[in-house]
Amino acid sequence: MQCASARYFLQTYGCQMNENDSEKIAGMLESLGYFEAESPDEADLIILNTCCVRRNAERKVYGRIGQFKRLKERNPDLLIAVCGCMVQQESELSVLRDRYPYVDLVFGTHNLHRLPELLRQVQAGGTRVIEVWESEGEVIEGLPIKHKPGFQAWITVMYGCNNFCSYCIVPYVRGRERSRPRESILEEVRKLVGEGFSEFTLLGQNVNSYGKDLPGDYDFASLMRDVSEIDGVKRLRFTTSHPKDMSERLIDVIAEGENICEHIHLPLQAGSNSVLERMNRRYTREDYLRLIDKIRERIPSCAITTDLIVGFPGETREDFDDTLDMVKRVRFDSAFTFAYSPRVGTPAASMQDQVPKDERMERLYELIEVQNSISKEKNQEMLGQVVEVLIEGPSKTNPTKHQGRTRTNKIVTFDPTEDLAIGSPALVRITEAKTWTLEGELVPDGEAHSDAGAISRHQG
Ligand code: SF4
Repeated sequence: MQCASARYFLQTYGCQMNENDSEKIAGMLESLGYFEAESPDEADLIILNTCCVRRNAERKVYGRIGQFKRLKERNPDLLIAVCGCMVQQESELSVLRDRYPYVDLVFGTHNLHRLPELLRQVQAGGTRVIEVWESEGEVIEGLPIKHKPGFQAWITVMYGCNNFCSYCIVPYVRGRERSRPRESILEEVRKLVGEGFSEFTLLGQNVNSYGKDLPGDYDFASLMRDVSEIDGVKRLRFTTSHPKDMSERLIDVIAEGENICEHIHLPLQAGSNSVLERMNRRYTREDYLRLIDKIRERIPSCAITTDLIVGFPGETREDFDDTLDMVKRVRFDSAFTFAYSPRVGTPAASMQDQVPKDERMERLYELIEVQNSISKEKNQEMLGQVVEVLIEGPSKTNPTKHQGRTRTNKIVTFDPTEDLAIGSPALVRITEAKTWTLEGELVPDGEAHSDAGAISRHQG
C-alpha cells in the first residue's frame, strides 16, 4: 500500500491495555510507511482508540469525532477511523454507523491486526468499511509494535477476562482469557532488552490468571520468574491482578526476585461482603485481609495499591463504612477511587436500589479524604530515607525538576542533572512528602556508598 509521506494521528482513551494496542496500531502504520503527525490538522489518517469502561469516556469520543467533521470538510481525503472497546458494543456501533457517516473505518478489539487490509479496502473502494468481530479469535503474534521511547516497556501477556464482575463491561468487549505462549513473551522481552529497554510491566486484564487456558501447569508465577531471569531486565512489574488469583507461589516469586518490584496493585473494590458478593468478586473481606497479611509477611516493604468503587447498587451506609474500615486497616499506599457508574449490558446496571448520584458522590469525597491522608502519612514515613529511582526525565507536574520512580512505584522529583541519562539508577534522599509525590535530592556518589548499607532491596 502506498503511504510515502502520509501522516497519522492516533488518540487513545482508557487503560494501559488500550495504550498497548495503540502501540501495535502505530507499529502497523509505520511499517506501511506512515509517519506520526503532531496534531489532527496535519494528519491524513486519524484513529481514535476508544474505551467503554465509563460512559464519560464514550461521551468524550463522540465530542472528539464531532470536532473532526470540520477537518474532513476542509480535506475530503482525510480518513477517520474509530476502534477499541466502545465499538464492540452493538449500541455504540449503530450510533457510529448512523450518526457519523464521515467516519471511514471502524474496527474492533478482536480484529485489530487486520488494520492494514482494512485500510487498503477503504482506500481502494472509496467507501467506508465497518468490520467488528463479535468474538475473539486466536492470539496473533508478531505484529510490529512501536514502543514509547524510553526504557520502560509494557508487554501484554494475556487478553480478555473470565471473571464477569457484575459492574464490568470488559469481558463483553475483550472476550475470554487467552494467554500468549511463554516463548513469544520471553522472546519479546529479550528483543526489547537488546533495544535498550530495561523496565518491564507484564499486562493483562486479569494478569495473574495467566496460563490457566494453556496446557500444562505453567502459570503467572513461572512467567514472572522466567522474565526476571532475562539478562538486562532491571525492573519487573505487573498489572492488574485479581485477589482470588494471587497465589502464595506468586508472592514467593516476587519476594525472591531481586529485580521484581515491591508493588502489588490489588483491586479490593468494596469492603462489605454483601457488596462483594453482588459484584461477583469471589472473595470476602476476610480473604482479602489474609492475603494482605501474607504479602506483608513475605515482602514487608511492599507497596499495595487498589481500586475502590462506592455507591454500588444496594450499598448502604453500613456497607460503605465497611469499605472505609478496610481502607483504614490495610492502609493502601494509594487508591483509584470511583463512584459507581452503570454500564448498559452489565448485570449491575439493572439491579434494584441504585444509589442516588449525590449520595455516591458524597461517599466518594469522604473516601478520597480518608485515603489521601493515609497516602500522605505513608509517604511521610519515607522522609530522610535514601531510595533508588530510575530516572524518567522531566517531571510531568513541574518541568523545572526531573522525576524518577521508586521500586514501590512512587514518583520522586529532584533537581535535574546532566550526569545521569534517562533510565539510569540514582539514589535520592526524600526531603518532602506530599499525597501523590515525593521530593528529594540526589545523593552524590561518595555519599551514596556510605549510605549503601541503609538501602535494602525492599526500601523505596
Ligand atoms: S476482573 Fe472483573 S473488573 Fe477486572 S476486567 Fe475482569 S470483569 Fe472487569
